Amino acid sequence: MEKKEYPPKHMGSMMGPVHASAFENALKQFNAAARVMNLSDDQVAMIKQPRRITEVRLPIRMDDGRIENFVGYRVQHSIARGPAKGGIRFHPDVTVDEVKALAFWMTFKCSVVNIPMGGGKGGVIVDPSKLSRGELERLARRYMAEMIDLFGPDRDVPAPDVNTGPMIMGWMMDTYSMHHGGDYIPGVITGKPLEIGGSLGRDKATAQGMVFCVREAAQKLGIFLNKATVAIQGFGNAGSFAASLLHEDGCKIVAISDVGGGFFNREKGIDPAQAIEYVKKNRSLKGFEKVADVKCYDDPMKVLEESVDVLIPAALENQITEANAERIKPKIIAECANGPCTFEADAILTENKVFLIPDILCNAGGVTVSYLEWVQNRMGYYWPIERVQEDLERMMVKAFDDVYETSLKYKVNMRIAAFIVAIERVSKASELRGLYA
Ligand code: GLU
Repeated sequence: MEKKEYPPKHMGSMMGPVHASAFENALKQFNAAARVMNLSDDQVAMIKQPRRITEVRLPIRMDDGRIENFVGYRVQHSIARGPAKGGIRFHPDVTVDEVKALAFWMTFKCSVVNIPMGGGKGGVIVDPSKLSRGELERLARRYMAEMIDLFGPDRDVPAPDVNTGPMIMGWMMDTYSMHHGGDYIPGVITGKPLEIGGSLGRDKATAQGMVFCVREAAQKLGIFLNKATVAIQGFGNAGSFAASLLHEDGCKIVAISDVGGGFFNREKGIDPAQAIEYVKKNRSLKGFEKVADVKCYDDPMKVLEESVDVLIPAALENQITEANAERIKPKIIAECANGPCTFEADAILTENKVFLIPDILCNAGGVTVSYLEWVQNRMGYYWPIERVQEDLERMMVKAFDDVYETSLKYKVNMRIAAFIVAIERVSKASELRGLYA
C-alpha cells in the first residue's frame, strides 16, 4: 500500500481541466435549472451548499503491523426532506470536491423519485483491492466509529457505492449497533446482506431502475428494445446488472469495459453471464479476450463512441466531455453512473438530439430500494421480491413521467427538467420548515 499524503494534493478546487471539478459541474446543472425557475437568491444560496462536511483520519493497523492513516469524508448536503441518504465510496481518487458533488446529486435524486430523504455521501481515499479482508473490515468499522454521531436511522443513512457492497454495510451496521448498547439497528444503513435486514431486489435495483427508464424512453422514441444494441462503460454492480437485465429484454450487448480494458463484438454481441462469471474470478475484465469471442479496444474510452441505440455510462464522473461528446451519438444515454457527463458535453449531446436520461433520475432505483429497505427495517416486516419490484417500477415510471412532462413544459433537456422537478420539492420543503435546510 503506497503512502497517501495528507491532505491529498488533488483537492477539488485545485484540480485542472483534466480532472474537472465534479462539484462545479453539479452547480452548473443546478444554476441552469434555477434560471428557468426564477428562484430567489436566498433560495438558491440555501439549497446549493452542503449542510455539513466532515473529514476524519482513519488509523488502521495493517496485517504487517504498520499503522496506515486513511482519510474519510462524509458530506451531508441537505436534510430538508428527510434524513441524509447516500452511499460510501472506497476509491483512490476520492476528493472532498467529489464527495460534495455526489452528496448534492443525492439530494436531488431522492427528490426526483419523491422519497422522504435528503442527500449525503461518504468516501475513503483507498484502493480496496490492495487491502486484505481484515484490513478492509477494520477500515469500514473505523469509518463508522469515527463518525458515529453523524449517522442514525433518522439522521443520516449510508449505503453502498463504488467498491463497497453488502459485506461492508453489514460490518458498519454491526459497529453502529454495538456503539448503541448492542441494540439491533438495521435502519442505520442500507444495502445490507439479506440475512441482517437487507431487502430483496436491492442488489440489482440501480440497473433495474435504469431499465424502467430506458423502456419508457424507447417507447417515446419508437425504439424496439428487443432489437436494440447496447454499450456499457463500467462493469461493477450497476454495469453488470444492466448488461444482464437488458440482455433479458432482448438487447444485444455489443461492448463493455472496466478498469481491466474495453471489449466488443458487434456481430454476435457479448454474453453478460460469461463476463460476470469472468469478473467474479478475476476481479476485472482484464484478459477477457483470451476466453471470450471479443476484440479488445486500444483505448477503453472508445466504448463510449460505439454506434449503438443505448449507451450506458456506469463508471465514474466526467467521462463524456467537450473532448469526446461530438463523437458520441447513441439514440439514448442512460446514466447509471453519477455525473458521467459534463455540463458542456450536455449541450453538444442535446444539439445532436441524443436523448439523455440523467443520473439523478436514471440511477435512482438504487436509493429507491434503499428507501424500501429502510421502511422494512423500521417495520420489522419483510416483503417478497414482487412487492419491491412493483413499488420500484411505479416510482421510477412516475419520476420519468414527471421529468418528461417538465421537459416539454419548459422546453429544456431531461437533465434540466429533472433538476426543476427536484429543486421545486426541496425548495418547498425548506420553505415549509421555515427555511431550515
Ligand atoms: N450509491 C448509490 C447512489 O449513488 C445508492 C445510494 C443509496 O442507496 O443510498 O445512488
